Amino acid sequence: MNYFVNEKGYYGDFGGAYIPEMLYPNVEELRQHYLEIINAPEFQQEFRALLKDYVGRPSPLYLAKRLSEKYNANIFLKREDLNHTGAHKINNTIGQILLAEKLGKKRIIAETGAGQHGVATATVCALRGLECVVYMGEIDIQRQAPNVARMKMLGAKVVSAVSGSKTLKDATNEAMRDWINNPIDTHYIIGSVVGPHPYPDMVALFQSVISEETKKQLLEQTGNDQPDYVLACVGGGSNAMGMFYHFVNDKDVKLIAVEAAGKGVHSGHSAATTALGKEGVLHGSRSILMQTDDGQVIEPYSISAGLDYPGIGPQHAHLFKTTRAEYVSVSDEESLDAGLLLTQLEGIIPAIESAHALAYLEKMEFTGKENVVVCLSGRGDKDMETYMKHFGF
Ligand SMILES: *Cc1c(COP(=O)(O)O)cnc(C)c1O
Repeated sequence: MNYFVNEKGYYGDFGGAYIPEMLYPNVEELRQHYLEIINAPEFQQEFRALLKDYVGRPSPLYLAKRLSEKYNANIFLKREDLNHTGAHKINNTIGQILLAEKLGKKRIIAETGAGQHGVATATVCALRGLECVVYMGEIDIQRQAPNVARMKMLGAKVVSAVSGSKTLKDATNEAMRDWINNPIDTHYIIGSVVGPHPYPDMVALFQSVISEETKKQLLEQTGNDQPDYVLACVGGGSNAMGMFYHFVNDKDVKLIAVEAAGKGVHSGHSAATTALGKEGVLHGSRSILMQTDDGQVIEPYSISAGLDYPGIGPQHAHLFKTTRAEYVSVSDEESLDAGLLLTQLEGIIPAIESAHALAYLEKMEFTGKENVVVCLSGRGDKDMETYMKHFGF
């Protein structure tokens, strides 16, 4: 079984590039050059140097002792929360900005929902001195004022998307329109393992540093580079894909992807894509998405903005359909509790996204011997208001 992309841009039944004709030249330019650029020694050297000196990699693999005692297993946390800007997203934006430079692009565009990807993009644009335009729904601009301010301080122009529901999907449409109008000088940085081929493969490659480091660190710490379980939360699926990447062909390693059940899978307020979704096309690729019988995308819901997405990347759809990875979900409430538990047992306040992965530990059973790696995709500073409201601090 091949779990990675084939030469046509597919993962089994999923993937491809379902794009308007006018976007074809842009996507085709990327498709033709991305592997050659990324695999060049000079690119790798530059990428690795920035990951080390700017992002602060390798991120630690931390054996959480008190959490391990509680769950009766060896729980290792892959500390993406310690990266510069506080999450895994910077691994991808560093990779894509270097790629954009190699393609001779002078201008960067991105779309953002909660603003985390917008901030990660604005950050690398400041770092490299490239013009940056971030599209964001009008409603999200109002909801996410601190991230809007960060982007502006970093020198980005934040453009309000005022059509439709005025949220992420409308920002994505605006970004696509911009790219069609500026095919020569502009690169579009997508923030997860979604979008038309080659984006899902490209983003997974940049994020695969997570599992590459984890294998080395596990070998050093346990004498075995294969754990029993690997867990990660899934919005579009980039931290999960980075965390799974080098374990996908290790068939004894169980991969668990945790989606956001929101207020309950069947509550009508959920983002549990594999539980509720059907096959279809979303944002340029064939995958699994939440949709009505006549193919309208259903508005997702999660308390965590990063998981509030109606689909999953095509590689995840393939891992799900082939049962190579298990897709589960936990609720808002369970995640908030797991976030509080980690904070009080280990002194680490996790992003509510990451707390979803932690929350699933509660539903697993261990014998005391298992090695379990959980991707701590980000830190919880950005979520303090939500934690405060819920727990009444
Ligand atoms: C954006 C985000 C996610 C969700 O995105 P993926 O592409 O699924 O990884 C998860 N955790 C954090 C901290 C995020 O900022």
